[in-house]
Formats: sequence, C-alpha cells, structure tokens
Amino acid sequence: MLTHTLGFPRMGAARELKKALETYWNAGANNREAGRALLDTAKALRLRHWTAQVQAGIDIVPVGDFSLYDHMLDMAMRLGLAPARFAAGGDPLDLYFRMARGGQGDETAMEMTKWFDTNYHYIVPELTRGQTFTPDASDLLAQLDEAEAAGLRAKIALPGPCTFLHLAKSVDDGFDRFELLPALTEAYADILGKLAGRAEWIQLDEPVLALDLPQFLPRRFRAAIERLIEAARPARVMLATYFGGVSQNADVYSGLPLGALHLDLCRAPEQLAGVYAHLTPETALSLGVVDGRNIWRVDAEQALRPLQNAVEHLGAARVMAAPSCSLLHCPMSLEAETSLDPEIRSAMAFALEKCAELRTLADCAAGLETSRGVVCAGWLAENRRAREAWAANPHRRNDVVRTRLAAVTPRMLTRAQPYPERAKLQRAALSLPPLPTTTIGSFPQTAEVRAARAKFRKGDMTDEAYDAFLRDTIRATVGIQERLGLDVLVHGEPERNDMVEHFGEKLAGFCFTRNGWVQSYGSRCVKPPVIYGDVSRPAPMTVAWSSYAQSLTKKPMKGMLTGPVTILCWSFVRDDQPRAETCAQIALALRDEVADLQAAGIRIIQIDEPALREGMPLRGRDRDGYLRWAVDAFRLAVGSAAPQTQIHTHMCYCEFNEIVEWIAKLDADVISIEASRSRMELLSAFRRFRYPNEIGPGVYDIHSPRVPDAREMLELIHRAAAVIPKERLWVNPDCGLKTRAWPETLASLTNMVQAARLARVELFPD
Ligand code: GLN
Ligand code: ZN
Repeated sequence: MLTHTLGFPRMGAARELKKALETYWNAGANNREAGRALLDTAKALRLRHWTAQVQAGIDIVPVGDFSLYDHMLDMAMRLGLAPARFAAGGDPLDLYFRMARGGQGDETAMEMTKWFDTNYHYIVPELTRGQTFTPDASDLLAQLDEAEAAGLRAKIALPGPCTFLHLAKSVDDGFDRFELLPALTEAYADILGKLAGRAEWIQLDEPVLALDLPQFLPRRFRAAIERLIEAARPARVMLATYFGGVSQNADVYSGLPLGALHLDLCRAPEQLAGVYAHLTPETALSLGVVDGRNIWRVDAEQALRPLQNAVEHLGAARVMAAPSCSLLHCPMSLEAETSLDPEIRSAMAFALEKCAELRTLADCAAGLETSRGVVCAGWLAENRRAREAWAANPHRRNDVVRTRLAAVTPRMLTRAQPYPERAKLQRAALSLPPLPTTTIGSFPQTAEVRAARAKFRKGDMTDEAYDAFLRDTIRATVGIQERLGLDVLVHGEPERNDMVEHFGEKLAGFCFTRNGWVQSYGSRCVKPPVIYGDVSRPAPMTVAWSSYAQSLTKKPMKGMLTGPVTILCWSFVRDDQPRAETCAQIALALRDEVADLQAAGIRIIQIDEPALREGMPLRGRDRDGYLRWAVDAFRLAVGSAAPQTQIHTHMCYCEFNEIVEWIAKLDADVISIEASRSRMELLSAFRRFRYPNEIGPGVYDIHSPRVPDAREMLELIHRAAAVIPKERLWVNPDCGLKTRAWPETLASLTNMVQAARLARVELFPD
C-alpha cells in the first residue's frame, strides 16, 4: 500500500524560509543577488523536506505545494492573473511579492483571507469580466526536475479549478465569476498537458467539495474535472478533498475515471461506506487517516479499520494511506521539542512523525507482519497501551473541574437581571457621558516594551525590574488616556505578548512547544499553545495589573480577558473529548477571573472573542450546534458578573452579518466591533436585526498608520446613529492598538475624542 502526503510545512525546521524572505524583502526590490539567495534557500528546503518525508516512510511526495508566500498566489501567477494595478515586466519575483504585500502608489496588496477553517491565510485571486488566462507550467516543471534529480516519486499538487474559482473574487460588479469556469479549465488543461508526460500523479486539491455548494455548481465542476482527467493523461489525477465529508457533492466525482479520490476520514469517517459505489475500476482510494490538523499521535486501531475495510473492497494496490489534509497546518518535527515534558511529548506527532505513522499503518493494513522491522501486532499493542496510559495520566485530569462542570446549571449562564435593568444600574454606577469613548485594550507595543519582555524571558531582567518596567508603562498609558479625555480606560496590555498565549501560560492544562511553528501567512508563523489536559486556573491571572491600573485613575478601568472560544480556536486542542467540553472548562476558569476582578473593584470587564466566527463549522447543518455551545461558554464565563458590572466583548475582521442573532445571545452589555473599513456596512445587519444592547462600531482602522480626522469619524458616528439608538452607541477604534506607533495613536485618539464631543453636541443638543 502506497503512502503519500498532500502537502508539507514550508518554513523549515529553523524557519529558514522566514529568514530568507525577510532578508530578501529588506534588500529592496529587484535585488538580483538577494533573489537568488532566496530561491536557493527555497530549493534546498524542498529537497530537504522531500528527503525527510521519504526517510520517514512516504512513497510519493508532493511537488508544487511549496510556496514562497502562498499556494493560491502561485496558482494565480501560473494562470497569468496579476491584477492590472501591478506594473508588469521586471523581475517576476518582485511582482509576486508586490501582489502579496503591496507595492508603490496604488499597488495595494491583494486581499488575504482564511483558508477554510484553518488559521492559514491565502491571497484571494482577482478576476475581471472577460478575464483571460496565460497558463505557465514552468515553475512546476522546474520543481519536477529537482524531484527527479533526487530520484523521488513525485506527485504534482495544485489547488483545483473549482476551489480556485470558488475562493477567487470578482472585482467587477454584477459579474458572475463562475462564467469563467470553462476558460479556467482550459488554462488548467494547458498546464496539466505540459506536466502529463512528466508526472506520474497530479493532485487537484478541491476542499471546496466539503462545503454546501449551490445547486448549479456540482454539474459544472464535474465537467471541469472530467476535462482535466483527459488533459492529464497519461498522468493520473488525484482529486483531493478534505476538511469535511464530500458525499453531498458526489455528483462531481461519481463514476469519473480518476486516478484516485482522497477523503478526509478524520473529519468525516462516515463517508467511507458510501464511497465505493462511486469509484470506477481504475480509481484508487486515498484515505486520510492521520489528522493533519492536530499534533496528537494517531489512534492506530481506529486508523487501521478504514484502511482494512478499503483493502477488502479494493485490494491493497488500490488503497493509499495519507494524512487527512496537507501537513501545512501542523508543525514539522518533534525533534526540537527537547524541553517538553516527556509524557506529553510521547503523546504527540508532528508532520514527520505522522509520515512515519502512515508507513506503519499502510504496511499493517496491507497485511504485512512487519513494517520496517517493526512487528505490526506489537506496534498496535504499544500504541494502544500508550494511548490508555495517556488517557489515564493523572496530570491531565482534574476532578474538581469535572465536578464543577457537571454541576453547571442554565441559571449560571444567565446574568441575574436582563439588560435593560442592568443598564440602569450600570449607568448609575459608572456615570458615563452619552457616546462614551474607549479603546479595545492594547496600546503600542514599542521596541522598548518588546525588548524588556525578551530580556525578562531570557532571564536577563529580574522579576522586580520587569515589574517596575510594566508599572511605569501602565502608569504612563493611564496618564495619556486621562489627558486624551477618554471615558473608559484600559491598562494597555504591555505584559502580554499574545492574547491567547498570555492566558495559556497562566492556566493549568496548557503547555507550549519550543518550535511548534505553523504558517499563518507569508513569512508569518504562530506557535499555538497546546491544551493537553483539564483546564483550571491555579491563581488569578489579570487582577494585579488591572487593580494597579484602576488605582491610578478615578475613571473606570476595563479589565481585559480573552474569551473561551478564542482561546480554544487558537490552540491545538486535545482530541479525546468534545471541543465544547474543553471550551466550557476554559469558561469556568474565566468565570473565576471575572468574579475576582469584580471583587477587586473592577467595574467593567471586556472578554474578547475575535475567533467566534472563525470557529464556525464549514457546513450549514453543523453551525447552530457550534454556535450554541460557543455562546454558552461565553455566558458561563460572564455569568458570575453582578448586574452593575458592565460586560464588554470585542470582535474583529470577519463577516458578522450572518451571526448577529447569535452575537446578541452573548448578552454582553456592550460589544465593540470592527466596522470602519467597510464604512459601517456591517450596520446593515443591525438594520435588519435590532441589536438589543450597547454597541461600539469601530470608527477608525487600526491596521493602517493613517490618521483619520475628526470629521471623518464624526460622519461614521452619524451613520451608526442612523441605525442604532444613540443612547446605546459607543465610540472606539476597530481593534487593539498594539501594532501601531505612539504618534499616530495619539493623533487618531485625539481626533476620535473630538469626534465624540462634536457628536454629543449634535445628537444630544440639550
Ligand atoms: N484586547 C485585544 C487588544 O486590544 C484584542 C485583540 C483582538 O481583537 N484581536 O489587543
Ligand atoms: Zn480586534
């Protein structure tokens, strides 16, 4: 039985690609020598990664999955889709990065958005009415040469045309991009034709098939795939689906003479039984039995079952073993994790360890007695023993948390009084002006702040010195907010590197890897915390700094927490219990924090949930179930707040319109939400649905150093007031200010406070 991977992490064990990219960017555009160095690094990484996969036991390695920035951008380049605003000609490498990151003048960067429900961001291809394509396969041919020279069995891996088109955007109004499918398919056919005689396999990634597609699409998608199977001959086409089951879209692939169909059996194990009926005799079945989205060791018995089932139906030669999806979404190797607790470490498998698991699984499923010298029966027994020991590991279990969770009642999810009553009490307690001004939490994380943190972490700064530094920073930030005339202040979050990591470090049940980097976009990587056990809060997490900040001012100081759903979404989560349960455990810990903040005299507490929308399942039928437990987790976290304590939440950078009803169910007293980039278009959702509580639609975009003037923000306040009763309106930026520098922050906030004052005069004349 063959093993293969659909894609592999790109950065390198020591994030060599990140470093090479940044060196190239710093060298300035069109620096040939820097360009060559970057391409050399890329080539070396490809070879190293292919070799490592083969050594770990992979038979067929992917070619074309590697990217200097993003695979969708690569595909757009191959198709000749550079938008007209980018000056053509010159060094293609330079053009490529201008498209990704923006160039001179009006060469604004192409949009970037999340790849399905992952934290990977792709560049959104732009299509115009009557778009033409100029297909070019040269980069793939060159990489095939590299793989061939290394004596490898290669599989070209590309985003398929259906997914490419689905994820692209039409830049001309009123034009339906799906009209372009036939032309796009021909462009693909041209590329595949050039690869046909050279590659054994061509993998077309079509995760879009895991979605609910509009009725008219499956037929058209089928025609495209059918055409490409033809164009690729004699190479075999593998239709790769992942992130969910695809049986709802079986019309796309049923009975097509595919070389192989790949299914994600980690997300949708139930789809195996029905798939055989759709396969033609020449079609192999690739089964994604090792989870590419997580870092845990495989459950060997569970993974083996579908492989054996497929062998019974098709014979081992027609079955392939694979990770569920590209390994891009998990870190590369456990090798560097020398400081992890050995028990935790032995429960983990990163990309290369997953490759090794696949080898053994494939051999054992094919009926071999040994795999690379390992006896199958022994391996299975050891895997089971290790899993059982890990499940029973006392460090993972906290009975106090379990008992508390079992005792959660619906009343605990509900504030003691409804919003209108609470609002009266809060108004009396806080005495804020109409249109109160506030910020979202963080203030500029200057080089000085980052340097102090780094020094402290390295042990080059004592606890006392670091504490004193943070105290000074907070005092200065509070003073600045007082002078600006803001109404609700924040401490500025100088002690936080990352809004999830900060809490993960203080909660039990979390651990951190040393090198567990996962690409987020371009050269940007994140190192998600790992939730391995029951979550609890050994001690208060934020009370000391919030109380200190409150002691410096008479104005209300907002306590600042990251919400349970966001902590869950931005971590690697244990896979032995439902995510909802892990989320509720985090919520209980936050609930205690809310109670402690309140007891310490903090009258306003904000719980950020920027990831609420992104955690949504891909398919409509699964959404309400998720939203219900996600909203309940938030409500459990804040249910301990007294009616006079004002609960805020914050959300940013995603499409909220379809979930406003659920956002309302959070029953936060105030929500601040990103709105300025779309000039308050978001508010149309609130026109349709009357949001019942208070809301601060962001009046300026913090992702740009641009300083908007007071008039501009005043106009946005007026727009908001046209939809939301002015008595329930707040004035704030779109998001936290940590990525900004002080000068523009001061200027923008001065104008924002000015705009709020003008709006008060105009909207509240008496
Ligand atoms: N309180 C956080 C901050 O201001 C919120 C960040 C976010 O929404 N992503 O930085
Ligand atoms: Zn935000």
